[in-house]
Amino acid sequence: MTSRYAAAEAGRRTEWGDCCADGFAAAAALLRAADDVTLLAHVNPDADALGSALGLGLALHGCGKTVRVSFGEPLHAPESLAALDVAGLIVPASQVPRAPRLLVALDTGNLARLGPLGDRVATADAGLVSDHHVSNPRFGKHHLGDAKAEATAVIVLRLLDELGIPLDTDIARCLYAGLVTDTRCFRIARPATHAYAARLLSAGVRAEIETRTLMDTHPFGWLGMLADVLGRAELEPQAARGLGLVHTRVLGSDVHGMRTEEVESVVDLVRTSAEAEVAAVLKEVGQGEWSVSLRAKQRLDVGAAATALGGGGHRLASGFTATGRADDVLAALRTALDTAPLLDPGQY
Ligand code: MN
Repeated sequence: MTSRYAAAEAGRRTEWGDCCADGFAAAAALLRAADDVTLLAHVNPDADALGSALGLGLALHGCGKTVRVSFGEPLHAPESLAALDVAGLIVPASQVPRAPRLLVALDTGNLARLGPLGDRVATADAGLVSDHHVSNPRFGKHHLGDAKAEATAVIVLRLLDELGIPLDTDIARCLYAGLVTDTRCFRIARPATHAYAARLLSAGVRAEIETRTLMDTHPFGWLGMLADVLGRAELEPQAARGLGLVHTRVLGSDVHGMRTEEVESVVDLVRTSAEAEVAAVLKEVGQGEWSVSLRAKQRLDVGAAATALGGGGHRLASGFTATGRADDVLAALRTALDTAPLLDPGQY
């Protein structure tokens, strides 16, 4: 099995501490001085990446700046997120300038996650990376990172406060999309999380409608897809340092007519298995190419396991890509999980 990510990224794990006031002031100064801003989400953008980019983009657009939002691939935004782009800020990757004036990468845990737009980090006049992934190796020149933030959307909200830009409903919807999905509907929450949500709701977000579009709407065929995919799940009680591993595969033939939303929903069902600390879903993204999602409940650092395999993410939610036979990918995964750090039960 070989990893698609640069080996140099592996093993370089740097803890992002709490964002300091200086970080916000410096990031705000960069944005205030810019009149042309390119905001990038990671490839296959999720609600936090694209919501953060669009939320900040709408705010800056409202200040009269030229703003574009993009991501390396695929060509179009996920259907469930497209309605957040009320100002038409999203442009295809091919329309991102070769040398952007100010580039802001959002929710992007490492350079590889920018995909074909990763080269813009080197060619931009100035670059700012805003992220909450614990594995972020601090690529780019300026950083606004906070590994304790529930979502990158929260960092953007605090940045808007620093800029003195008030929330409107359109901005709040974008940030709510990131917050509600990255916290898995506020399962992961501290008091401040709900305080942030309260501000977004006060700005006009209709929680039930937004959440239904984002998380609870699938085509009928999804039910049959789940029956197949979940039916081939396997439990390995001795794997993952004896804490248990449950895994399944989503094959190319399973997902005909399905969106990424349907494919990405699988891991949230597999992870509910009581007998396994770790859940893994191997998604076939090409001939012999796999995108693997990892989730842990609370005891094993699957972020470290993913990083060892060339990917990255959070301690309890991470991923990597690999090429080769599924059985070989699984074998490498078992090895990585058996050497992944145990987490202090009080840590989460
Ligand atoms: Mn995120």
